[in-house]
Amino acid sequence: MGIIVQKYGGTSVGSPERIINVAERIIATKNKGNSVITVVSAMGDSTDELLDLAAQITRNPSSREMDMLLATGEQVSISLLSMAIKEKGYEVVSLTGAQAGIYTDTVHKKAKITRIDNTRLKREIEAGKIVIVAGFQGKTEGGEITTLGRGGSDTTAVAVAAAVKADVCEIYTDVDGVYTADPRIVPNASKLDFVSYDEMLELASLGALVLQTRAVEYAKQHKVRVAVKSSFNNNEGTIVEEGSAMERVRLVSGVAHDLNVAKITIYGVPDVPGIAGSLFRALADNNINVDMIVQSNPRGTINDISFTVSQEEQKKAVQVVEKIKEEVNAEGINTRDKLAKISIVGAGMQSNPGVAATMFEALANAGINIELISTSEIKVSCIVDAANAKDAVKIIHDKFKLGDKNK
Ligand code: ADP
Ligand code: ASP
Ligand code: MG
Repeated sequence: MGIIVQKYGGTSVGSPERIINVAERIIATKNKGNSVITVVSAMGDSTDELLDLAAQITRNPSSREMDMLLATGEQVSISLLSMAIKEKGYEVVSLTGAQAGIYTDTVHKKAKITRIDNTRLKREIEAGKIVIVAGFQGKTEGGEITTLGRGGSDTTAVAVAAAVKADVCEIYTDVDGVYTADPRIVPNASKLDFVSYDEMLELASLGALVLQTRAVEYAKQHKVRVAVKSSFNNNEGTIVEEGSAMERVRLVSGVAHDLNVAKITIYGVPDVPGIAGSLFRALADNNINVDMIVQSNPRGTINDISFTVSQEEQKKAVQVVEKIKEEVNAEGINTRDKLAKISIVGAGMQSNPGVAATMFEALANAGINIELISTSEIKVSCIVDAANAKDAVKIIHDKFKLGDKNK
């Protein structure tokens, strides 16, 4: 029998009762003859609580110390889960990311896994033990503890699955699969039985929190079959795999939303070569992630450039743009927060030009103004006022009839 990697998120291990329940699930998988490696997140909201604690001490904690702090959350859940499994008479060992051989680069708080030395994992599995690995953390080649960014346990699970050549990586969460929209916002959203890596990559990066974007990227790169399931029931989940394995290409697979958007416009910019280059170079040099960019048509000798960033980076971005404004003699800057990005994703839209128009019409009919638009082959995104975000998601979801069982 093969190796199964399972990952349980924060809600799934949110209380002692839940931890005992997860222990039973793991034992049931083991009893079917599989070797099991389980990756767990910190209990419930404990990562947020650790962030709050740090905020009460300092406004500017060092990234290294933040990682030391945040990594403790997962150490609590791995040890408790191992105790629960041992209590039921099974051989088990818990491992921190470092003990599991997970190496990362040195970018604290959003480190990338660079390699996994699977020696220890293999040894424990071969000894017949259930292995419990702390998600979200690793160590640098120099021995420092790092974390992988919020939601990073998904990536740990996929990377471990690739490193031990697991049959499947099962992501257990509080919903029983990937839906056509966040089921907390759209109660009649339907579950997708299959979704391609590319569609899932777009959905995740456009705000569908159910999988961390990096986890999907890693799964695609290493061809790891991922199943998203609920730890609260035994329903069939969603399989994430190569697009060609899917029977039919859907026009629109889902609607995603991201409430963390701010827009910055620099207007009255001279319409000469080099301006956009110096603006976005300055933002990049300050490690600011720019998402959408729109440049207007020139009005005589000037034009306007708008772009979006996350709300946390808005202040820093405005400071950078202020400097550029002086250098290039632009007329002014304005900025807005409390914006949201609403996106539709579907592999079938590349050959259907009407899809974007349908989305814009749906928003217009509801009186929702679109601030910016961007498109790729398999997605269309619109920036709207955050106050309208939830309505926008529901309206678009309805318009494309995604509530009907979508296979
Ligand atoms: P975990 O703690 O298990 O990692 P997360 O909170 O990170 O769980 O992810 C699960 C949540 O993702 C769900 O509760 C759901 O509200 C949200 N979500 C957003 N978009 C989607 C979607 N398209 N399909 C399923 N869940 C989604
Ligand atoms: N505990 C971390 C977080 O809350 C990692 C994870 O849950 O995946 O982001
Ligand atoms: Mg998560």
